[in-house]
Amino acid sequence: MSHEAISIFDMFKIGVGPSSSHTLGPWKAALRFLQSLEQKGIIQQVQSIEVLLYGSLAKTGIGHGTDVAIQLGLSGENPETFDVNNIQPKINDIKLMNKLMLNGKHEVDFNPQEDIEFLFSESLPFHPNALTFLVHLQDDEAIAETYYSIGGGFVIKEGETSNEDNEVVLPFPINTAENLLHWCMKTGMSISEVVMENETSWRPEIITREKVLNTWRVMKECIYRGCHTAGNLPGGLNVKRRAIDLNKKLINGRPYLDYDNWVNAITSGGKDFTYILDWVSCFALAVNEENASFGRVVTAPTNGAAGVIPAVLQYYICFCNGKNEEKIIQFLLTASEVGSIFKKGATISAAMGGCQAEIGVSSAMAAAALTECMGGTQRQVLMAAEIAMEHHLGLTCDPIAGLVQIPCIERNTMGAIKAITACQLALQSKPDFAKVSLDAVIKTMWDTALDMNSKYKETADGGLAVNIPISLSEC
Ligand code: SF4
Repeated sequence: MSHEAISIFDMFKIGVGPSSSHTLGPWKAALRFLQSLEQKGIIQQVQSIEVLLYGSLAKTGIGHGTDVAIQLGLSGENPETFDVNNIQPKINDIKLMNKLMLNGKHEVDFNPQEDIEFLFSESLPFHPNALTFLVHLQDDEAIAETYYSIGGGFVIKEGETSNEDNEVVLPFPINTAENLLHWCMKTGMSISEVVMENETSWRPEIITREKVLNTWRVMKECIYRGCHTAGNLPGGLNVKRRAIDLNKKLINGRPYLDYDNWVNAITSGGKDFTYILDWVSCFALAVNEENASFGRVVTAPTNGAAGVIPAVLQYYICFCNGKNEEKIIQFLLTASEVGSIFKKGATISAAMGGCQAEIGVSSAMAAAALTECMGGTQRQVLMAAEIAMEHHLGLTCDPIAGLVQIPCIERNTMGAIKAITACQLALQSKPDFAKVSLDAVIKTMWDTALDMNSKYKETADGGLAVNIPISLSEC
């Protein structure tokens, strides 16, 4: 079977907010362009560089920090490890000096306001998130390369059809939910076990386990930081961070010095419905407030939807007795497979499919993962993913001022709650009687994406983005 091999670490990428397609993707595209210059041995010959942004990248690039990400990428910084506290100082330096150190080794003149062009009315046919790097060399030669940020931090170069790093042969090739179920039935393995077997094509199991736990470490640190950070979000909308106040209220103002003590305190608070509901919202708000503040987050499967999966996993840990490394690994493996099936059968890019492709997919991933961890059968796991997406179909992307704040942050709370409800429904149901399969809902999501007006696809040209009067202050 021909298939695109997608690893769990393609779905869950450690990076920087606020957007996987508009921040992380362009950052990675800049790094790939540097790699290309290095391979050609011409980086030292570069005299000047221009970056052209098309389509959705032009329309909402400022709000998503696309220009910032490109400068950091061209400087050779790694989005996974670069200290987020140094982002603004570094950008200020480039602006002040009008110089950029290409890949940290070759200085070129660079005026961000002139050399990064937002082509608001131009779009390239392959994908709405396109960017072209254009360099002039010492001998008057010019080189241009175009990249596409296709959602979730995935980047492909003009002419490529898929992520070129993933040309491995998997023991269990999977394109659809039906394929996945086939392997589960044939082997008797759970979904997470099938995924783990596939992951061994890239690396030994022990390394995969370490890396998955590291992914969860970044997610939980993000939740904890978001629950303990006050202030307004950047960008000029003056949105107040809310997770900190909700956290304080729920733990009666008591300070807890570390994540483990804090989690124990949450768990000891009981299982009242509204108490749990408030905590799930608090976890999701915390992650997405961090995301909106250029904080360190994990794409899940995107940055805008980064709060859903951590919130549901944190819910599982706190309220379903899930404090167990095995279960955490199982949860994230299962979630990643469902996300990759959506990517292959539809899209995880809001610029292609609206918010159903972000929050909808993350909710389906979380629903599936929770169902497996709660003891559901493989069919119930897929059913949970189907239910979660079914009730996100048609959800548009309309971020006010192009910032990943309104409606994005609250929308993660909704995605998390729907995931938990979908899990419960699936656990209480017999999948044999289900009328809608996961593959059918993925096809429906894609059909809906194709029919959706482009103003609802991460352009900030429709919906809430045009109906809420705003006055942006300088930030
Ligand atoms: S509305 Fe949804 S898809 Fe659009 S930026 Fe916000 S979270 Fe992402």
